[in-house]
Amino acid sequence: KLRTPAATTGPAVTPPPAADGDALLEAVGLTKSYAGADGDLPVLSGIDLTVRAGEIVALLGKSGSGKSTLLRCLAGLIPASSGAVAYRGEPLTGANPGTAMVFQTFALLPWLTVRQNVELGLEARGVPADERARAAGQAIDLIGLDGFESAYPKELSGGMRQRVGFARALVVEPDVLMMDEPFSALDVLTAENLRGELMELWESGQFPTRAVVLVTHNIEEAVLMADRIVVLGSRPYGTIRETVEVGLDRPRDREAPAFQELID
Ligand code: ADP
Ligand code: MG
Repeated sequence: KLRTPAATTGPAVTPPPAADGDALLEAVGLTKSYAGADGDLPVLSGIDLTVRAGEIVALLGKSGSGKSTLLRCLAGLIPASSGAVAYRGEPLTGANPGTAMVFQTFALLPWLTVRQNVELGLEARGVPADERARAAGQAIDLIGLDGFESAYPKELSGGMRQRVGFARALVVEPDVLMMDEPFSALDVLTAENLRGELMELWESGQFPTRAVVLVTHNIEEAVLMADRIVVLGSRPYGTIRETVEVGLDRPRDREAPAFQELID
């Protein structure tokens, strides 16, 4: 059964809540090539991946291994060349209605205030103004931006800008939060702070999403945050070589496993 994703047609979807372990995102035999001057450049080949409710999955690989491409395919922002991507069992025909994205370089609109940037995701889904204001206020408080509602992005530090990026994604309460190297444009201390706060929210159950997909090239970050690490090999391009299960016990106090060799 195919249906048009609600994200492109109307109000925010409110599917029944997923139980821990339910499959939210699935890629089956996913292949992606980009058209290049010398023919197609294969980036992902034959990827099978399931993201389940209750888990944080890290996609780990070095630059150019296809992490962002895989994330965008799962979010329905670009089409697969072959294979399928499904959200809750329904094949995607456009933007995934169950995901929202946080970008490495924030992607805020400079002429809009913090509050207006945060409301954007809701506007796109046709949510009425009073409900937008309520939800944006909640997301702004949750992510530590209260007092900055009327500020413009250029008045904020990098860390605060990325908080706006998080609030804008979380405000729609997506089933799956997608993050593409969300900390790599921040200085080390700012990144560590923000990571720690997010993990506290996640672990305390206040994070308004059911799963997280984190793209990173940072092994320590993947180990700190993820329940499962999916390593994208670079040869052949983007074939998932290994899924590394990282201990399910929280809070985290463990060492990075030695899988650097998997990435090279
Ligand atoms: P990563 O996020 O792991 O750094 P990407 O998914 O961005 O990797 O890119 C994987 C490969 O695909 C790289 O070789 C990159 O140059 C290429 N690529 C990415 N986006 C495009 C595009 N829009 N058109 C052509 N090639 C692309
Ligand atoms: Mg990338």
